[in-house]
Amino acid sequence: MTESAAQNPHMTDAIIIGAGPVGLFAVFELGLNDVKCHLIDILDRPGGQCAELYPEKPIYDIPAVPVCTGAELTEKLLEQIKPFHPAFHFGQMAEKLEKTADGHWRVTTDRGTVIEGKIVVIAAGGGSFVPKKLPIKGIEEFEGTSVFYAVRKMEQFRDQNIVIAGGGDSALDWAINLQPVAKHVTLVHRRDEFRAAPDSVLKMRTLVAEGLMDLKIAALTSIEGEGSRIRNVIVQETGKAQEPMACDALLAFYGLTMKLGPVAHFGIDLHENLIPVNTADFETSVPGIFAIGDINAYPGKMKLILSGFHEAALMAKKAFTYVHPDRRYRFQYTTSSSDLQGKLGVEHAA
Ligand SMILES: Cc1cc2nc3c(=O)[nH]c(=O)nc-3n(C[C@H](O)[C@H](O)[C@H](O)COP(=O)(O)OP(=O)(O)OC[C@H]3O[C@@H](n4cnc5c(N)ncnc54)[C@H](O)[C@@H]3O)c2cc1C
Repeated sequence: MTESAAQNPHMTDAIIIGAGPVGLFAVFELGLNDVKCHLIDILDRPGGQCAELYPEKPIYDIPAVPVCTGAELTEKLLEQIKPFHPAFHFGQMAEKLEKTADGHWRVTTDRGTVIEGKIVVIAAGGGSFVPKKLPIKGIEEFEGTSVFYAVRKMEQFRDQNIVIAGGGDSALDWAINLQPVAKHVTLVHRRDEFRAAPDSVLKMRTLVAEGLMDLKIAALTSIEGEGSRIRNVIVQETGKAQEPMACDALLAFYGLTMKLGPVAHFGIDLHENLIPVNTADFETSVPGIFAIGDINAYPGKMKLILSGFHEAALMAKKAFTYVHPDRRYRFQYTTSSSDLQGKLGVEHAA
């Protein structure tokens, strides 16, 4: 963490860990209660499982929305929370949670971002999405210096020999995007079939046909190098001998898995990797820390988006009492409350 990040944290009312559908809807319910939010997600975009696991699959059980895809639900939620101007911190893992001397909560991410808030809402779903590691012995020595599972800055790869492993959207998108930046790009995939969008597959094949990048249908078997720097990756085509390929950086995109991750060390009671909550307000064993959505556990819990939406509404009611201890909570309908309509920036109903 940089000294300035620690000394000048982002100040807010609520820190939401997880920008899945439930974390996003929490912004809405908290916003109606005058609670401002910052959200953190390890993914590089909002939507959680809906965006990462099934963006194009239809969902049929969102109340009053007969059908929408995971991506469409995410877009609609973003539109709905716009009036509340949430701040997003993407591509970062909420790593540390501590209480400050003045009774606030401080969350620090793995990229050194520091946020202080009056309450914390854990909407971490099945946990954080983490990249599947390359199943190669000794890979740890190279990770972060010449083996990468994400691209933070394309410039880092300028004029390098890059090998990209994988056959999904991330592998093909980065192969196409890095081709003009790198000295040379080789895409390595086990089969000549790709899970990526057809348009990306076509673009990749065109670049290969034009001689601007290489495609190797082979298994990645090992890597060679000195210290933490790769020299060669060793690949093997079916029925052929192993072959070294010069490589400065290896980017592996073998998909993501979900792990509870740092939430397990936040000092909150856990039961089988879930967070038990009180169903009146979805507060955890620690006052001021709430858990909503797939991450929580209570008798009868159903891991559905609509359950998380309901939990967000009850959580926000209790959150109000922490953030505005001097004010009385007022139950209001959005249809008839000019106060709520003002917050939403909509015309007052007659
Ligand atoms: C294939 C499939 C189909 C489904 N279909 C339906 C359906 O039809 N209807 C339905 O209601 N539900 C469906 N679900 C379930 C639904 O997607 C989940 O109930 C919902 O996504 C839970 O939302 P959430 O916001 O609680 O968690 P998630 O969507 O899991 O989002 C949690 C977010 O938190 C982030 N995160 C976790 N820990 C950290 C950390 N420490 N730091 C930073 N970020 C962190 C994760 O990266 C993730 O983006 C389906 C699920 C799958 C896999």
